[in-house]
Amino acid sequence: MRFSTSGIRVMRNFPGDAEVASHRWLVRAGYIFQHGSGIYSFAPLFYRVYRKICRIVEEEIDREGGVQVQLPLIQPAELWERSGRLKVYREAGVMFETEDRRGSLYCLCPTAEEVVTDMAMSFIQSPRQLPVIFYQQHTKFRDELRPRFGMVRCREFTMMDAYSFDIDEAGLDRSYKAMDRAYHRIFRRCGLDYVVVKADSGAIGGSDSEEFMASCEIGEDTLMIAGDYAANAELAFSVIEDPEPEAPQPLEVVDTPGADTIAKLAACLKVPESKTLKSMIYNAVFEDREEAVAVLIRGDKDINEVKLLNHLGAIAIRLAEPELVKEVAGCAPGYVGPTTLKAGTRVVADLTVQAMSNFAAGSGEPGKHAINVNHGRDFPTPEFVDIRMAKAGETAPNGETLQAFRGIEVGHIFKLGDKYSIALGAGVNDSEGTFRHFQMGCYGVGSTRIASAVVEQYHDDDGITWPLALAPFHVHLVPTKYQDEVQRAHADEIYAALQARGIEVLLDDRKVSPGVKFADADMIGVPYRVTLGRGLVEGKVEVKERLSGEVSDVPLETLIDDLTARIKGALEAAA
Ligand code: ATP
Ligand code: MG
Repeated sequence: MRFSTSGIRVMRNFPGDAEVASHRWLVRAGYIFQHGSGIYSFAPLFYRVYRKICRIVEEEIDREGGVQVQLPLIQPAELWERSGRLKVYREAGVMFETEDRRGSLYCLCPTAEEVVTDMAMSFIQSPRQLPVIFYQQHTKFRDELRPRFGMVRCREFTMMDAYSFDIDEAGLDRSYKAMDRAYHRIFRRCGLDYVVVKADSGAIGGSDSEEFMASCEIGEDTLMIAGDYAANAELAFSVIEDPEPEAPQPLEVVDTPGADTIAKLAACLKVPESKTLKSMIYNAVFEDREEAVAVLIRGDKDINEVKLLNHLGAIAIRLAEPELVKEVAGCAPGYVGPTTLKAGTRVVADLTVQAMSNFAAGSGEPGKHAINVNHGRDFPTPEFVDIRMAKAGETAPNGETLQAFRGIEVGHIFKLGDKYSIALGAGVNDSEGTFRHFQMGCYGVGSTRIASAVVEQYHDDDGITWPLALAPFHVHLVPTKYQDEVQRAHADEIYAALQARGIEVLLDDRKVSPGVKFADADMIGVPYRVTLGRGLVEGKVEVKERLSGEVSDVPLETLIDDLTARIKGALEAAA
């Protein structure tokens, strides 16, 4: 491609709103163009990278027997009502809905379990057609609360989404493993440094679920890792040592002036934070009702809202507004304690609370706390469940110490089981003539998000340092002065010869200074830069590797063979 007519534009400055390297470089180097919040065009450079990611994804999923389809972007909301997910996605705020001229409700596809199941139940008529894995690479729309970081979290983005259909759980397990294998090959070929963690199944529902996380400090997910234990912080578990049991002391209310945080309360009472209790009121939204729930946790620990949501089986939970807190606990949010709750309030306590005795808690009054509180005596025994955020330094279930890392979720695999097939009535008659609901799995890869994750891992102070497999071009050909007849003749010849060998070349034929060309080349980040300049009189060109910075002078006669061999060799090694 000739730079002058490629439609590529490299900017002189970073975008003002970019907080992370991938967003900064992808915009500045002219890969993407923002039109609105979380809405981007893929400029020519990005489109090339995107297609390479898609090809890798397709090759690896095809290798496991996946079959490609295309599912609609606009879907009848009625299907989502049948699966019971319309309300869940509405509550999460990600669903974009619209009406057609006849007043029928539609939604923009955030994911496609409903439509694919709808199709599968018509197309799959016999167990002999199973297993089948349908997949697509297509636009998704999620009205994200906080679109940010460029292509990491957009509203419109592309995802590879796959859906497996099996007759039984053993079959589902095989399909799940097949996708797991494909994912490992995909992320390895993309050059990503990644880890696989146990994950929450979230609004999709289901049992086994794992996320593929690109290791990255700016990642929005926290990963808790200890030896062979790896889990998303949303569901990570840690083992806490219980305190020694104590004989119950009489309940008292004492003055605790100014003790409006756990730290201040512990200091005021001269007890460790682990002898205090946090009490929060949540508003839980269910399919048919809302309910105030009191949640208790040891003072030195934090509530994990994902675990809480899952335990309650609610569609959404949020901290209660002051009016609701007043109604349930008779006081303002900061003063709630387990003894102040209205009778009949549902109370959920973390497992850490079970072994606590003689602890301090809110008394319902400002400036005062209850001490020597004991559950079962001073308030009814609550439901004890794990709703705690595991923290770095705590002990993992395997006995090793948890460490926290940050990651960008680039892929996710789920066992859905029969959740959607039951909801939509999808399945086949087995050989005995008994109707069996499909056992389904669903699998997502953030095809566009991968590009951002790769740039986070492959950049330096001058720009992007693409791995060869994803780079928009293999070679960036830079004649320092293309108007010069000799340079032009050589440049055109090299350009044609490399392309004839299947090498993708960007020829910088612009009339700009060599300094600008070099700076742009560094930003764009093509792995090999070939410079035609003064060395030409001696029959030499300069080859520079973008990633290592290694420079070598190569004779014109061997350039094409050398470079082709290096590039093809590297591509094969990465495939
Ligand atoms: P997140 O937790 O980051 O919001 P998710 O768990 O909701 O993502 P999935 O439903 O598992 O996402 O979607 C599959 C894949 O699609 C994700 O692993 C991610 O790579 C990609 N993805 C999800 N949301 C976005 C988005 N807003 N922008 C770009 N890619 C996304
Ligand atoms: Mg996910």
